[in-house]
Amino acid sequence: MNEYEKNKLKEERMRNSKLAHYKNKKLLKILGFVFLIIGIILALIGLISFGISFNNMSMPNFFTFFLLFPGFILIGIGTTLLRFGYMKEVGGYIKNESIPIINEASEEIKPAIKNIKEVIVKEEDKIYCPYCNNEIDKDSLYCPKCGKELFKECPSCHEKNDIDSIYCDKCGTKL
Ligand SMILES: [Zn+2]
Ligand SMILES: [Zn+2]
Repeated sequence: MNEYEKNKLKEERMRNSKLAHYKNKKLLKILGFVFLIIGIILALIGLISFGISFNNMSMPNFFTFFLLFPGFILIGIGTTLLRFGYMKEVGGYIKNESIPIINEASEEIKPAIKNIKEVIVKEEDKIYCPYCNNEIDKDSLYCPKCGKELFKECPSCHEKNDIDSIYCDKCGTKL
């Protein structure tokens, strides 16, 4: 047997097992429905006959219990079978439907996070006038409120240094 035939056989086997799996699921669903419906009918007949005997103040007959119990058991079996039959579909649905929603949500959250980040960064750039305590931009040279100089001019190279600098940024002269 050559490689090609081997692969083809493998593929065939996989397809068959998938088909068998699908058939099993279908059988589970059908059986589940049948059990559930028969169970509901039996339980209903049981409940109705129990209700009638209760209204008549007579003892519920054996037939009532004979129908109620297998009815509930069948309902239980039916729902279990259905749950197994639909499990894959439910799982697939959750996986396929929820991931795009999560992605979409994160896309919408991203700008908000960016804005928060910008606000924080901007906040760090803010300084206060040492004369009047007015909030000012870090790169402004004069306070917009009191008009005082917000830089230290270097006596050696005339570089405008930040107000809190001790040494000149450019030449290192003590200010
Ligand atoms: Zn000021
Ligand atoms: Zn200087």
